[in-house]
Amino acid sequence: MTERQADGHAHLYYPPILNGLDYLDSVVDHLSGEPNPRNLKYAVLHLQAATEVLLKARLLQEHWSLVFKDPGRADRGRFESGAFESCATSEAIIRLRNILAVELPKSATDEISQLTKWRNALQHYGLIAPAPAVESRAAHILDFLLLFINEYLMPGLSGEDAEYAYETAYHIRSRLSHIRALIQARMDRLSPVLAPHAERTVSCPDCGQLALVVGSAPLRCRFCDEEHRNPVNLAQFYVGIALGKEWEPGYEDLATWPIQRCPGCAEDTLVLEAGTAAAPRSHTPLCFACGGIFPTGG
Ligand SMILES: [Zn+2]
Ligand SMILES: [Zn+2]
Repeated sequence: MTERQADGHAHLYYPPILNGLDYLDSVVDHLSGEPNPRNLKYAVLHLQAATEVLLKARLLQEHWSLVFKDPGRADRGRFESGAFESCATSEAIIRLRNILAVELPKSATDEISQLTKWRNALQHYGLIAPAPAVESRAAHILDFLLLFINEYLMPGLSGEDAEYAYETAYHIRSRLSHIRALIQARMDRLSPVLAPHAERTVSCPDCGQLALVVGSAPLRCRFCDEEHRNPVNLAQFYVGIALGKEWEPGYEDLATWPIQRCPGCAEDTLVLEAGTAAAPRSHTPLCFACGGIFPTGG
């Protein structure tokens, strides 16, 4: 930091954090009250922007070249003029881990990759995610980013910047707790509906809540109302989001693939490591098509 201050570029390093906080402030604005589709669109876009800016802000604190797509060809002049191609958010996460030993929790990186997919979907054909899914996932990511700011970015700030960042984060956190309370209230209202199905209720790949009842049609999340017609596709979507295992052609033949053929209904829908509402912390071999539990596997 002394080097930065000595060469007169101190401010170059600070605006990204304040910029990221400003985006987060906008996200809670858009999610407060009864968000309409336009509010949700900007909540997703600004949350994605905040995530990118804040994760890279930590790289910038280490060295400005680390935000270049190719750090080996980083150029100070192009950095200062902003005329360079920056690394992707997924790459920033890898650099945080490999270079700075900042290991982000897997739950957070999964949420971020889902957010990136939504952002891309928005750019091309509009958002198709249900409103409660956006609110619920956004609340998780906001929680994570506020912790990230506290732990990894605040220590690099001082003076007025630190004061401003502290106040803004406080303001965001207080409104976020209101949004979180609404989400919890909705889950509480659902608990009598979900209780009889606890053994075949899994976390929804859209909203992240333990509210997706599988095993019989309709395969519908009671929290965000997203419905899935095809149990095979849903099982693949689930292991992609919940277990971070992206399906590729041919994987269904592998003994290590977490979906096997169900001995009960003969569909390729037996998810070996499902986390259910009845046993959220253990791995239940649960068939998404017939709802059977088969401890021995396929
Ligand atoms: Zn859902
Ligand atoms: Zn089955």
